[in-house]
Amino acid sequence: MGGQPLYLAPRLGERLSSLLDSPGLLHTLVDALGSPLNVVVPDQLSANLEQFRSVYGRHHLSGQVLFAHKANRSSALLRRLAATGAGVDVASLGELQHALGAGFTPDRITATGPKNPEFLWLAARTSVTVAVDGRAELEQLAALVRAHALPRTRVLLRLSGFESSGVRTLSRRSRFGTPVQERKELLTAVERHADAVELTGVAYHLDTTSLTEKATALEGCLRVLEECRGRGMRPSVVDIGGGFGADYLADGEQWERYTTALTDAVLGTRPPLTWGGHGYGLRNEAGTIRGSLGLYPAHRPVAGPRYLDELLTQPAASFGGRPLAALLLEHLYDLHVEPGRALLDQCGLTLARVLEVREPEGPGGELLVRLAAKADDVGLEEHGVLMDPVVVPRNRNRNLDRARAAMDPAAAHEDPAGARQALDGDFAAPAAEPVAVHLFGTLCLETDLITRRTVFLPVRPAPGDLLAFANTAGYCMDFHATHAQRQPVARKVAAWQEGGGWRWCLDDQYWPTTSLGAAGYDMGGVQ
Ligand SMILES: *Cc1c(COP(=O)(O)O)cnc(C)c1O
Repeated sequence: MGGQPLYLAPRLGERLSSLLDSPGLLHTLVDALGSPLNVVVPDQLSANLEQFRSVYGRHHLSGQVLFAHKANRSSALLRRLAATGAGVDVASLGELQHALGAGFTPDRITATGPKNPEFLWLAARTSVTVAVDGRAELEQLAALVRAHALPRTRVLLRLSGFESSGVRTLSRRSRFGTPVQERKELLTAVERHADAVELTGVAYHLDTTSLTEKATALEGCLRVLEECRGRGMRPSVVDIGGGFGADYLADGEQWERYTTALTDAVLGTRPPLTWGGHGYGLRNEAGTIRGSLGLYPAHRPVAGPRYLDELLTQPAASFGGRPLAALLLEHLYDLHVEPGRALLDQCGLTLARVLEVREPEGPGGELLVRLAAKADDVGLEEHGVLMDPVVVPRNRNRNLDRARAAMDPAAAHEDPAGARQALDGDFAAPAAEPVAVHLFGTLCLETDLITRRTVFLPVRPAPGDLLAFANTAGYCMDFHATHAQRQPVARKVAAWQEGGGWRWCLDDQYWPTTSLGAAGYDMGGVQ
C-alpha cells in the first residue's frame, strides 16, 4: 500500500460502539437473516429526541419535534417514537397509514410533500394537519373536504423564496412551497375557504446547511404571521422543516487531510484515491482545480440539536436585531421542527458479508473486496457521505475462545501449545497491517461500487468477515434499496440493551412493549 492510510473513521456513540463490540451477535444475525442486514436502535432515537427537547427547554419554547418519516422505513423506529411525545412528518399515503398504525394520533402528524387525492383524503378524514404546497393544493383540499363532508382541516402554508431585508440575498430556490411574494393570493384563498380549512401557521423546509439562509426564512415566516394577524387570522405555528444534519466522522483532521489529498489526486500530484480517477465533483483543468466538491460535509460538529440552538440565536434584522428565539417566545408562537437525518443520528448500521478478497493487479495496488450487498443497499455513497466501514472479523472470537478454553487450568484437556497457537494464529490478533481496498457489490454491473473511493482499513478483511457501515439509519439504509437482479433487499432488525446485553427482534415485530422484555409479561403474572 503506497503512502499513509487516509482513514475516515466513523463517529460512534455508546450504543453503536457496544453493538460493534458484539461480533458474535452480529455474525449470528447475518448468518440467520442474510447479508446485507440493517440493524436499528430505537432507544437512540428517543435519546436524540430528548436532545432536541432540551434545546426547546433552554429557549423556553413550545411546539412539536416531528420525525421526517421519509428518512427511514422502519416500523420499530416509528413505534418507539410513538411512545414518546414526538410527532411525525409524513410525505405519502403509505407513510400516513404507517404512522396512524404505529399509534400516532392525528394531532401529532403533519402531511407534507407532493400529495395525491387519496393521501389528501386520508389526512383530512383523520384530521391530520396538512402542510399545503400552494394555491392549487389548497383548492383541491377544500373541494375534497366539502365533497366528502370532512372535518375542517388544519393547514400550514409552505413558503419559499425568502429574501433578507438588507442585501437582497434570496434563499435557495425550491421546487416546493409558494414563493413568499405570492402569499397574498394564497391568504385570500384561505379566507375564501374558511369553511373547509383553518390556518394554523406557516412552514418552510430548505435543503441547505446554511444557517443564514434558514434564519432568513424563519424571519420571513414571522413577518407573514404578523401579516396574517393583521388580516384577523390567528395562526400560531412556525414549522421550520428539517436539515439540521449529522456529524459522521470521529476526527475532523482526518476529513481535512482526506479532502486535501483528494484535491491533490485530482491535480495528479499524488496517486488516484478513487476508482477510475473519479473526482467527486472536482476536475483538473490545465493544472487548476475546477468544480466543487459534491460531498456531504461529513465532519459537522455543529449539527442536529446544536444546529437548532445556533439557528435560534441568530438575530432578526427586520425585528431590531433581536434573536429569533426571543421573537418566537414573545409572540407565544409554537416552533415545529421536522428533523430526519438528525433524529436518526447513531440509530443504526448496515452489515455486509465479505465474499471475496482479490489480490491487487499490480504492486502497490488495492485489494478488490466483493461484498454480499449492492451499492443501493448502502446509501452512504449516494448521499455523498464518505466514511469507513468497521471490519468485524468472523473468527476472532472463536479462536480467542479456543485459546481461553485451552489455557483454563480447570479445562479437561489442557493444551497450552494449542492455546498459544490459537492466540498467535491469523485470526486471534489480525495482522495490524493497514490495507487499501476497493469495495464492490454483487451486481453484474461495472458501476456497482459500494463506494468509488479507495478505502483504507486498519486490518485486511477475509472472506466471511463483516463490514459494518455505521450510522446509516438516516437515508442510507432503505431509501434506495431495490430488488435488482431479484436480489433480496436487506432485512431489518431492531436491537436494544437489556440486562447488560443486547437483545433483538425483526423490525416488524418490535413494539414499545417488546423492549420491556420478559418484564412486559411479568406484569400480567406470566412467567
Ligand atoms: C426531507 C424533509 C425533512 C427532513 O430533512 P432532513 O434533512 O432529513 O432533516 C423535513 N421536512 C420536509 C418537508 C422534508 O421534505
